[in-house]
Amino acid sequence: MDKRREIKTIGVLTSGGDAPGMNAAVRAVTRAAIHHGLQVYGVMYGYHGLISGEIRPLTSSDVSGIMHQGGTILKTARSEEFRTTEGRAAAYQNLVKYGIDALVVIGGDGSFSGASAFSKEYDIPTVGIPGTIDNDISGTEYTLGYDTAMNTVIEAVDKIKDTASSHGRIFFIEVMGREAGLLALSTGIACGAEAIIIPESDEGYKDLEKFLAHYKEKKSSGIVMIAEGDKAGGALKLAERVNSEYPELDVRVSILGHMQRGGNPSGIDRVVATQMGVAAVDALLDDQKSIMIGLVNNKITHVPFNKTVKANRSIDQNLFDIQKVLNKWY
Ligand code: ATP
Repeated sequence: MDKRREIKTIGVLTSGGDAPGMNAAVRAVTRAAIHHGLQVYGVMYGYHGLISGEIRPLTSSDVSGIMHQGGTILKTARSEEFRTTEGRAAAYQNLVKYGIDALVVIGGDGSFSGASAFSKEYDIPTVGIPGTIDNDISGTEYTLGYDTAMNTVIEAVDKIKDTASSHGRIFFIEVMGREAGLLALSTGIACGAEAIIIPESDEGYKDLEKFLAHYKEKKSSGIVMIAEGDKAGGALKLAERVNSEYPELDVRVSILGHMQRGGNPSGIDRVVATQMGVAAVDALLDDQKSIMIGLVNNKITHVPFNKTVKANRSIDQNLFDIQKVLNKWY
């Protein structure tokens, strides 16, 4: 039997936090599905819209001109109702109403947990595409939005460095990452930070002490990158502590905040989103279900949803070591 004929209509939604590249993925899913003769529906506001029935057909031209836009044209939301069996039953009724046979869910690990529960209960083939600027989902080396967010942070810090060096000031820069420090670590390396402080390691605090001792002698400027989820409680708390211990130092804080989620997706995000979107439709047509599309060694992989939890990846020690080699004060 040709499995490729079993699915006729797919729904696509974006869920959880938005990330640059989601639109490129929506475009790729829509166009690939149409290419294979499927009908496509866009579900607005993630699982919330699946329950409330905010569902509309997507044509090839509906996804024109969105590749370069940040955010998501399908909007996104978090839905407490979808965590309940009643909520998922209402969502299923809407799939029946629109004749939707299969789903593509673009989001983070929480969205995949929801997709997994739903697809088990109602036997709806579901494929996920990882989208989060934290790049912290296990089973894939890349999640949509990470490269764009890195570039956004780097651009902002380059500007802050100009004023830091003019005044001989120390800036504590807080970047997103409640549990994951990869964005802070990679942008810290890219910006030549004096210390990098992340939830997964205590090493950055020692580097900070060393830098502050050096700074008192030389009075040069400095950048300290801090992931928002660090053990001290973020950049403001850490700066308060340093200011009280070293009142003679001029420590300023800059919290980059939600700007890190926005902006035009980078080339990498557009290409990977397109690859993943096409791969998601192929996977559904090949009778795959309850998997996330991943990227490992630059190759598309299929990862079962139950292996896509937030990664407690051990941070690459090599990156910390490199930072020490390159810091002139170390
Ligand atoms: P981000 O990484 O940006 O937080 P995410 O996809 O992990 O993205 P969550 O808020 O964790 O974001 O999950 C998105 C939605 O998925 C939730 O609002 C909820 O509707 C659904 N969801 C999450 N976990 C479950 C679950 N165990 N059962 C059912 N639905 C779930």
